[in-house]
Amino acid sequence: MKLEVTKKINEGTVIKAEFEGKMGQVLRGANALLAFKGKCDLCQDNQCLLQVKSAKGFEFIEFVCTSCGARAQWGQYKDGGYFLKQWEKYVPKEGAQGSQQKDNAVIEAALDIMGGKLEEEVPF
Ligand SMILES: [Zn+2]
Repeated sequence: MKLEVTKKINEGTVIKAEFEGKMGQVLRGANALLAFKGKCDLCQDNQCLLQVKSAKGFEFIEFVCTSCGARAQWGQYKDGGYFLKQWEKYVPKEGAQGSQQKDNAVIEAALDIMGGKLEEEVPF
């Protein structure tokens, strides 16, 4: 079986991926992409990023919403392939509360996405 997935991640990025193999293999391989709706589950914004982080020898793949900072991590099947975990709301660091902090939170998330605050990397 052959499966071709084309997903628009944001205005400038379209992912084209090809999967080949047995049905189960192919669907497991493509699952995380298939489950992505092309937008953030929380704020419905369609400007997301796909990024990879490395920590302690592991790779973490996740979709990140550039609008609200929410993330959806990819989980890995034991026998290969990825699935998409639930979108998680971006939670600002302690001390930040109330709607007034929202803008800061988004800026912080954007900085985080761009690797702007590496010293505060939160372990998964
Ligand atoms: Zn969002």
